[in-house]
Amino acid sequence: MAKLDSKIPQGSLSEKWTNHKSNINLVSPANKRMIDVIVVGTGLAGASASATLAELGYNVKTFCFQDSPRRAHSIAAQGGINAAKNYQGDGDSTHRLFYDTVKGGDYRSRESNVYRLAEVSTNIIDQCVAQGVPFARDYGGLLDNRSFGGVLVSRTFYAKGQTGQQLLLGAYSAMNRQIGRGKIKMYNRHEMMDLVLVDGKARGIITRNLVSGEIERHSAHVVVIASGGYGNVFFLSTNAMGSNVSASWKIHKRGAHFANPCFTQIHPTCIPVSGEHQSKLTLMSESLRNDGRIWVPKKMEDVKAIRTGQLQPTEIAEEDRDYYLERRYPAFGNLVPRDVASRAAKERCDAGYGVNKTGEAVYLDFAAAITRYGKEQAHVKGLDENDAVLIKKLGQEVVRAKYGNLFQMYEKIVDQDPYETPMMIYPAVHYTMGGVWVDYNLMTSIPGCYAIGEANFSDHGANRLGASALMQGLADGYFVLPYTIGDYLSDDIRTGPISTDSPEFDAAEKEVKDQLKAFVNNEGTNSVDYYHKKLGKIMWDKCGMSRNEKGLKEAIKEIKALREDFYKNVNVPGTADEFNEQLAKAGRVADFLELGELFAKDALERTESCGGHFREESQTPEGEALRDDKNFTFVSAWEYKGEPSKAQLHKEVLKYEEIEVKTRSYK
Ligand SMILES: Cc1cc2nc3c(=O)[nH]c(=O)nc-3n(C[C@H](O)[C@H](O)[C@H](O)COP(=O)(O)OP(=O)(O)OC[C@H]3O[C@@H](n4cnc5c(N)ncnc54)[C@H](O)[C@@H]3O)c2cc1C
Repeated sequence: MAKLDSKIPQGSLSEKWTNHKSNINLVSPANKRMIDVIVVGTGLAGASASATLAELGYNVKTFCFQDSPRRAHSIAAQGGINAAKNYQGDGDSTHRLFYDTVKGGDYRSRESNVYRLAEVSTNIIDQCVAQGVPFARDYGGLLDNRSFGGVLVSRTFYAKGQTGQQLLLGAYSAMNRQIGRGKIKMYNRHEMMDLVLVDGKARGIITRNLVSGEIERHSAHVVVIASGGYGNVFFLSTNAMGSNVSASWKIHKRGAHFANPCFTQIHPTCIPVSGEHQSKLTLMSESLRNDGRIWVPKKMEDVKAIRTGQLQPTEIAEEDRDYYLERRYPAFGNLVPRDVASRAAKERCDAGYGVNKTGEAVYLDFAAAITRYGKEQAHVKGLDENDAVLIKKLGQEVVRAKYGNLFQMYEKIVDQDPYETPMMIYPAVHYTMGGVWVDYNLMTSIPGCYAIGEANFSDHGANRLGASALMQGLADGYFVLPYTIGDYLSDDIRTGPISTDSPEFDAAEKEVKDQLKAFVNNEGTNSVDYYHKKLGKIMWDKCGMSRNEKGLKEAIKEIKALREDFYKNVNVPGTADEFNEQLAKAGRVADFLELGELFAKDALERTESCGGHFREESQTPEGEALRDDKNFTFVSAWEYKGEPSKAQLHKEVLKYEEIEVKTRSYK
């Protein structure tokens, strides 16, 4: 069994990465040309890694299941990307970004990794600007910033509400250059089905061509997993429909530890669920909390009147509104971190103050911002600051310029005009902090297998701060992995090309084909979605925003039973030798059904509350998360032992040398 050696370098935090980089074994340019690297995924992490590795000289094969790398889930990212540039002169620094991230993660992340992330954050912005990413600029031409939750500075760089898309276009252009040079071979519509190990090292993957159904073997000296997060284990989430855990889960089953699977982020500002037949939830970017104020009515009679349509939110007087985040957290107000904001919304809705028919919605209101901006504009233009109609018009123009595409999206989905009436929002599953365990070099517990981006667990602890996922994905892909991978590959320069004609490839391919055959030959009656939905309901009800021992034990039993039923009764139409979307889904849901059980087991084991993991048994009298540092200051890294219930727990103890571990407070 591989040891849980995180390979954290010696020295002070600010020395670690610099010293490590200069001590890393290097591979000569001539040898790089002899080395093949597989990258699974073309989101921001995979695309940036592929482009950089190819630029360095490695031969890269990159895979994605979409028809183009440009369609990776990363394009959904709206709000922005953090970097400690201190352009606003508001006291930001590497240390402050590091501190905010460790605190935001509720002291459950690895100090050294987070410091490195903060250090390289500034390089990312320079790199992306050089690629032509059109970040928003202020009047003077400097890059603009806004604030995200859990911080008191403005360090979020953005490109309207399309930051992920613009960043991905930058990385994709860099990739395309390498595709043109023949240094990257791109495999669109190819799904990784398994990892192949030879002599205990990752040496290749088995893929399925999603268009023809063909099973293929691909070898390499290292395999990099950049396959994103697993929020869709909940069925309903803000993730892209295709996001799945399969690549991560396959490597887990081959020996990669899975870390903190229960650490999930529930985002506070999503469009509420509207009915039973919904298959997707939509995020309203956190950037809206810069200007929007969150509230519910103070009086129960107002709530009832709103629900029956007798009263409009705009008719409720200011003194009858409960701006509960501003009330409970005066220092951070509407910009508390996501876990805190989500729980506060749930608390109000559980108390009966939810404002839609299901009772699961709160208001996000721009009226005050529209007036504030309108008055400012009137002042700038020398117009009448007491003309309410004019002020509203001018204010709406400013809000439209800042958030127009998000407002349009809301109107299209909900059919209400958010410039005129407050938006309704509710928390939804959004991001997974847990993932494949990696060491400081981003290598998993399988030699030669790396995990980057949302697929790994590395930097966000028990709660990720807004705009930090893009930062981590691009840090991993552009600046960390391309250095650290050499350390491992320097021992591999004499290996030569890896043959796919070996018993290990034969065995892995056979397993894949057998599973596909079993699915299409199953005489079941229930669709794949039937099981996915049922799993999602168990996860949301018992492993969602709050968790308790009884519910988690029930979830473990129910998921196991559901999995057994799935294998007996799932119906997958068509054959394995053709385009078959249901078959592709069946494989992904099979993996979710295993992950779900490990998720609940992990949540059961961690009896403390921390970040997004809220155990009802562990809370303060005010209902805040109560950590147990004495017993739980560790990363839970699970080793696969045949089935999720038998997974073995390894603990990576978290040591904080330069940060004082405190109770998290945003009051
Ligand atoms: C609606 C929304 C808005 C967000 N906004 C922000 C934001 O403003 N700022 C921020 O920092 N973060 C944001 N996030 C989070 C952020 O977008 C993601 O964490 C990040 O984009 C993940 O990037 P990634 O490269 O790790 O993975 P992804 O972008 O998910 O890419 C995964 C890749 O892996 C491939 N893949 C997966 N499985 C396989 C397989 N088996 N075989 C082959 N290929 C496979 C896919 O084809 C894809 O190319 C947002 C998330 C959502 C859902």
